Amino acid sequence: MSGRRKLVIGNWKMNGTRASGTEIDAIASGLAVRAEQQGRGDGVQAAICPPATLIATLSARLAAQPGPDVLALGGQTCHPNASGAHTGDISSDMLRDAGAAWVIVGHSERRADHKETDAQIRAQAEAALRAGLSPIICVGETEAERDAGRALEVVGAQLAGSTPDEAVAATTVIAYEPVWAIGTGRTPTEDEIATMHGSIRDRLRQRFGDEADKLRLLYGGSVKPANAEAIFSLTDVDGGLIGGASLKATDFLAIVDAAAKAE
Ligand code: PEP
Repeated sequence: MSGRRKLVIGNWKMNGTRASGTEIDAIASGLAVRAEQQGRGDGVQAAICPPATLIATLSARLAAQPGPDVLALGGQTCHPNASGAHTGDISSDMLRDAGAAWVIVGHSERRADHKETDAQIRAQAEAALRAGLSPIICVGETEAERDAGRALEVVGAQLAGSTPDEAVAATTVIAYEPVWAIGTGRTPTEDEIATMHGSIRDRLRQRFGDEADKLRLLYGGSVKPANAEAIFSLTDVDGGLIGGASLKATDFLAIVDAAAKAE
């Protein structure tokens, strides 16, 4: 037992409208049933990061559900500043105000589509912490970088550049997502995942000391109900960041069940 609570986060990306509220209801009621069966509140922790347009409405919807809080919400990026002249951007304070507890920063789609740098991602994570949000800091190599034998080096540099000095286990999560595994149905081998997560943990130990053993490291990239338990059972894998499979309540719940079995 690692002592680290398993965590499963869904990233809805640019998918979902208010009609997706029914999917959130299904996820929340499925999680509530599981929490009741376990008779305790310390099972797998779960959150969904929908498009920012949906956070307030889904938050109200979850608040209206009877029973314990079983599902948190998160944003998919945030601006480093709290407010100001930044057309189209959203601050972490706004996400928090809308009902978010988490925010994904540094997703490879943001790094590629919006040319976000490690320094910017670190500033976003710092802003999230200031606003009381927990950042999920994403790192991951491209296929060319892996083929060139540079995966550990590239991820190490991203980790060093994107993680704030203030990172502590209670509020910060790292997600390793190989770019070539996202949305492709391909995954690294179990050995490759274990090696990368071990290397991330070692680097965090060098920087944060014992705190690194409490920090949660998620794997993301084509996690499905069929492969989740094997991946989540690996040493230093504390759960998953789930894209496509988080859009369907039945798949997301099956992945949460896999995380519970892997504990
Ligand atoms: C993601 O985009 O964070 C992701 C892991 O996507 P998928 O699960 O669809 O590969």
